[in-house]
Amino acid sequence: MTDASDIPIRVRPEIAALPPYKQGRQAGGDAFKLSSNENPFDPLPGVVEAIRSATAVNRYPDASAARLRERLAERFGVASDEVHIGAGSVSILAQLILATSGPGDEVIYAWRSFEAYPWLAVVAGATAVEVPLAEGARHDLPAMVAAITERTRSIIVCSPNNPTGPIVTQAEFDAFIAQVPSDVLVILDEAYAEFVTDPDAVDGLLVLGNATYPNVVVLRTFSKAFGLAGLRVGYAVGHKRILDAARSTSIPLSVTAQAEVAALASLDAEEELLDRVRAIAERRDQLVAALRDAGWRVPDAQGNFVWLPTGDETLTAAQAFDEAGIIVRPFAGDGIRISVGEAESVEKVLRIAASLVSHLPAGHAGARESVER
Ligand SMILES: *Cc1c(COP(=O)(O)O)cnc(C)c1O
Repeated sequence: MTDASDIPIRVRPEIAALPPYKQGRQAGGDAFKLSSNENPFDPLPGVVEAIRSATAVNRYPDASAARLRERLAERFGVASDEVHIGAGSVSILAQLILATSGPGDEVIYAWRSFEAYPWLAVVAGATAVEVPLAEGARHDLPAMVAAITERTRSIIVCSPNNPTGPIVTQAEFDAFIAQVPSDVLVILDEAYAEFVTDPDAVDGLLVLGNATYPNVVVLRTFSKAFGLAGLRVGYAVGHKRILDAARSTSIPLSVTAQAEVAALASLDAEEELLDRVRAIAERRDQLVAALRDAGWRVPDAQGNFVWLPTGDETLTAAQAFDEAGIIVRPFAGDGIRISVGEAESVEKVLRIAASLVSHLPAGHAGARESVER
């Protein structure tokens, strides 16, 4: 909490109460930055070339990124007005929440999940309803259904869940959506969809093919698998009229021409980029297996990150990683998220993690009971 009394103007109290923005640690020297789920590979030459070619920066960009919308529409077999482009999928999330959920309305999401969700609800003036994760750090969809009231306007489902890692299965999602009132927006946040290897995982694009549920909007991004985090470009696929509502709340012209051409060039190079994604997913699976062998209780990981349930030891553990040149994302009192980064980072992560688990207090929930310590 901050003190509103030192702000020289009147600010909405719920905004004044938000913690001031704190920049994450930047990697210095030879440290590995594994704190933001970024793609460790350098951009492809064709993508860099496309960005270099977009030099008419005295002009505003195309307001709707029509070429990218058409390209994605073709790829997913929908109409181009069923695709909406934003400056990162977080900005589309914000638009959808603003469009649906104001003061007195409720936004339901799992917790712990993506850090932006509570903040987006507050900014919209809506009430956040957080539903604790179930065993295995997975979404508890039945509990989320039970949390629906007549004030519920939007529900966010994050699969794979950032920061804990597990997916929602297609069967779970189907059972869930059948119980959600048809006038409540369901946002399926699939920022890490490309990294998923579990065949049972929900696939938003299959959900969209099911005309019974026009209240579902699927969010994906070029930031993670496609490695364009720095350019800010993401997209939504869903009902045209829902996307129109989102567009109405958007800050116009936020998607730059450079972002649009880089996304198009990435789709041209999709095969090559997906090879990289496969390499990261394999590295992730090896990392999870090794962490479990070392004694950690690691939830299923289907994104490009792993979760260590460090609990009360979180800040000391993050400090140990930091001192060894590994920048991780700690969530105080809960756990540490480590992105799957450069191949050379893996051994280092494992060495520190193994030492940490052997020093956890007896009975710590992050350690597997079966492991002798
Ligand atoms: C990274 C992330 C996003 C999107 O990020 P953008 O860079 O804004 O596209 C959305 N949802 C989750 C859960 C994420 O982790």
